[in-house]
Amino acid sequence: MKVHVDMNLCQSHGECVAIAPDVFELGDDDMLVWQEEVPDDRRADMEAAANACPMMAIRLED
Ligand code: SF4
Repeated sequence: MKVHVDMNLCQSHGECVAIAPDVFELGDDDMLVWQEEVPDDRRADMEAAANACPMMAIRLED
Protein backbone atom coordinates (compact mmCIF):
# COMPACT_ATOMS: atom_id res chain seq x y z
CA MET A 1 0.00 0.00 0.00
CA LYS A 2 1.02 3.60 -0.54
CA VAL A 3 1.09 6.21 2.19
CA HIS A 4 0.58 9.81 1.13
CA VAL A 5 1.04 12.77 3.42
CA ASP A 6 -0.17 16.20 2.36
CA MET A 7 2.71 18.37 3.49
CA ASN A 8 0.55 21.46 3.03
CA LEU A 9 -1.53 20.13 5.94
CA CYS A 10 1.05 18.39 8.13
CA GLN A 11 2.09 20.48 11.12
CA SER A 12 4.58 17.99 12.54
CA HIS A 13 2.37 17.02 15.47
CA GLY A 14 4.02 13.61 15.50
CA GLU A 15 1.03 11.42 16.33
CA CYS A 16 1.86 9.25 13.34
CA VAL A 17 5.47 8.95 14.55
CA ALA A 18 4.28 7.74 17.95
CA ILE A 19 2.15 5.04 16.33
CA ALA A 20 4.59 3.82 13.67
CA PRO A 21 8.11 5.16 14.25
CA ASP A 22 9.53 2.76 11.67
CA VAL A 23 7.43 4.43 8.95
CA PHE A 24 7.18 8.06 10.07
CA GLU A 25 9.99 10.19 11.43
CA LEU A 26 10.45 13.85 12.24
CA GLY A 27 13.73 15.09 10.77
CA ASP A 28 16.12 17.58 12.35
CA ASP A 29 14.11 20.51 11.02
CA ASP A 30 10.88 18.89 12.33
CA MET A 31 9.80 18.09 8.80
CA LEU A 32 8.06 14.76 8.49
CA VAL A 33 9.77 12.09 6.43
CA TRP A 34 8.06 8.77 5.81
CA GLN A 35 8.19 5.53 3.92
CA GLU A 36 5.84 5.85 0.95
CA GLU A 37 5.47 2.13 0.21
CA VAL A 38 4.40 0.05 3.21
CA PRO A 39 3.63 -3.71 3.31
CA ASP A 40 -0.09 -4.53 3.48
CA ASP A 41 0.32 -6.29 6.82
CA ARG A 42 0.88 -2.85 8.36
CA ARG A 43 -2.55 -1.64 7.31
CA ALA A 44 -3.93 -1.47 10.87
CA ASP A 45 -1.04 0.73 11.99
CA MET A 46 -1.36 2.97 8.94
CA GLU A 47 -5.10 3.37 9.52
CA ALA A 48 -4.45 4.17 13.18
CA ALA A 49 -1.88 6.79 12.16
CA ALA A 50 -4.25 8.32 9.60
CA ASN A 51 -7.04 8.45 12.17
CA ALA A 52 -4.75 9.95 14.81
CA CYS A 53 -3.50 12.76 12.59
CA PRO A 54 -5.20 15.96 13.79
CA MET A 55 -4.71 17.56 10.37
CA MET A 56 -6.14 14.57 8.46
CA ALA A 57 -3.01 14.78 6.31
CA ILE A 58 -2.43 11.04 5.85
CA ARG A 59 -4.11 9.25 2.96
CA LEU A 60 -3.75 5.54 2.20
CA GLU A 61 -3.94 4.00 -1.23
CA ASP A 62 -4.04 0.32 -2.16
S1 SF4 B 1 0.22 13.19 12.73
FE1 SF4 B 1 -0.33 14.32 10.87
S2 SF4 B 1 0.29 16.41 11.28
FE2 SF4 B 1 1.33 15.09 12.75
S3 SF4 B 1 3.32 14.63 11.83
FE3 SF4 B 1 1.91 12.99 11.28
S4 SF4 B 1 1.07 13.61 9.30
FE4 SF4 B 1 1.97 15.42 10.22
